[in-house]
Amino acid sequence: MAGRELRAKPRVMTKDTHGRRPLVAGNWKMNGLFAAGAEVESLVNRVRASAPAADVLICPPATLIRPFAAAWGQRGVAFGGQDCHHADEGAFTGDISAAMIRDAGGDYVIVGHSERRSYYGETDQVVSHKAAAAHRAGIVSIVCVGETLAEREAGRAIDVVSQQVDFSLPTLSNAGNTVLAYEPVWAIGTGKTPSTDDIVAMHHAVRTRLTARFGAAEGNRMRILYGGSVKPANAREILALADVDGALVGGASLLARDFDAILDAYRS
Ligand code: PEP
Repeated sequence: MAGRELRAKPRVMTKDTHGRRPLVAGNWKMNGLFAAGAEVESLVNRVRASAPAADVLICPPATLIRPFAAAWGQRGVAFGGQDCHHADEGAFTGDISAAMIRDAGGDYVIVGHSERRSYYGETDQVVSHKAAAAHRAGIVSIVCVGETLAEREAGRAIDVVSQQVDFSLPTLSNAGNTVLAYEPVWAIGTGKTPSTDDIVAMHHAVRTRLTARFGAAEGNRMRILYGGSVKPANAREILALADVDGALVGGASLLARDFDAILDAYRS
């Protein structure tokens, strides 16, 4: 009986994490107006009432970073951008720089999300340059990688993701300025997730690339998030897996109630 209970409700803090503090990040994508601050306020109140053993981040649309950070920054929830340009400034109409995100109160920026890669043709090289821009600005890059369904079905998932890891991270990446996010493209917004064995195998493969390139100490300190249809119902199981250091959450981050239920995985 006790064994069954343990499997149904795994404890995330028992695995060897090399001291990595988990991060649970919400990606609001192009959703949310100023009034959505009510959800942030609700989330902040929930996090303050019962602090999870994890960093908590919301990446709202760029227009909302400043008002959200001004109202609720330094209160247990950090804010970040969803993309930045690779240049520090210049004639790039419509773009925003990493320094602008920082100036608005952001501490993180997502780069290389699969929607950016597929809709805007962003290559690993572009993603690497964006991550480097984030580092120059003094904010943390969350670098997204992930295979398509066709690549997984062809048995190429680990090769594809390993290559993305190799080429999407700039040379000066380290555990302080970089977070990896493994997000299978076919799992984003679909309600589908890989098997737990597949998640563990992929995170192990990513960890191996990181330690090979940055050395064992640094590579083991870098956080690797899982993203793709993380919900309250599956979060505890996924977040308990080896080398899963948190989650990048899309749809379920829009409502404070759902996002906070995911954070329960990091509450005792
Ligand atoms: C995402 O957009 O990064 C994502 C993981 O979305 P969802 O959680 O909705 O699948």
